[in-house]
Amino acid sequence: MVYITCENLVKIYKVADLEVVALQGLDLTVEAGEMMALVGPSGSGKSTLLNILGGLDVPSAGRVRVGEYNLLDMSPRQQVVYRRTEVGFVWQQTARNLLGYLTALENVELPMALNGVGHKERRKRAMELLDAVGLAARANHRPEHLSGGEQQRVAIAVAMANRPHLLLADEPTGEVDSEAAADIFESMRLLNREYGVTIVIVTHDMNVSARVDRVVGMRDGRTSTEVIRRRDERGETIHEEEYVLLDKSGRLQLPHPYIEALDMRDRVKVRLETDHIGVWPDKNGKKRSPSQDEEER
Ligand code: ADP
Ligand code: MG
Repeated sequence: MVYITCENLVKIYKVADLEVVALQGLDLTVEAGEMMALVGPSGSGKSTLLNILGGLDVPSAGRVRVGEYNLLDMSPRQQVVYRRTEVGFVWQQTARNLLGYLTALENVELPMALNGVGHKERRKRAMELLDAVGLAARANHRPEHLSGGEQQRVAIAVAMANRPHLLLADEPTGEVDSEAAADIFESMRLLNREYGVTIVIVTHDMNVSARVDRVVGMRDGRTSTEVIRRRDERGETIHEEEYVLLDKSGRLQLPHPYIEALDMRDRVKVRLETDHIGVWPDKNGKKRSPSQDEEER
């Protein structure tokens, strides 16, 4: 079942007299219960997209639906309900996620208190979530007495406090070592399984494709590539399949390593076969000498 749909999403920031196009016609579909990652160079629009999905920012044009919500057309009241109940957000900066003067347990209880959940139920749910992220024994510690990785796992429990359908995390492992990063991903995977929460993670983590169901690459404010893992019943990876996205006018962007491996440039030869299209470097094209390249620089 489709849970998130973005169609031709555009976000333009106006800074003084300048317009910055952060998203330019982005299309993305996410299934309910999926755990996926967004990767891409700095400035490609990852945080912009995540902020829009989190109801923290409004797109300039296009369509975006999350569950029952149309994010382009929400009343202020709906927006508050959306942010409080439908989504949970984890930031990169550990300090931004937690209140320093509250214990881990109190941090997880806080969003529930703001939502009017009773004291007993709050405590029960908070302990359950801290247990899920492997930190039940640290419940009464303040953030300063927790490692960066532990703080991020508490932050995930906080984000899950009001049982959101969607968990968004913007580079949650950006400030921790690789071992702590593995624990953070593991905690999110467990919550994904136990609660069925849909998870979108922005990450630079090189090992990410082993940890999520799908990796979507972003480039210049659009999605450009997808790597999907096929798993057997035991959850073991069978194989990975790589996709590039085809836009409505038939354009596709080939992965750069492929283009470089075959030294493709300017023009490529294509041929329609019965069930695929072949793409070859243009052997008859002008041979370019290194000095020619040099001249163009
Ligand atoms: P990423 O998270 O992939 O690094 P961002 O979504 O943060 O990329 O940024 C995409 C583009 O939008 C960049 O060019 C960035 O400078 C610009 N941008 C992001 N947020 C703002 C803002 N609040 N005001 C102006 N420009 C912004
Ligand atoms: Mg960012």
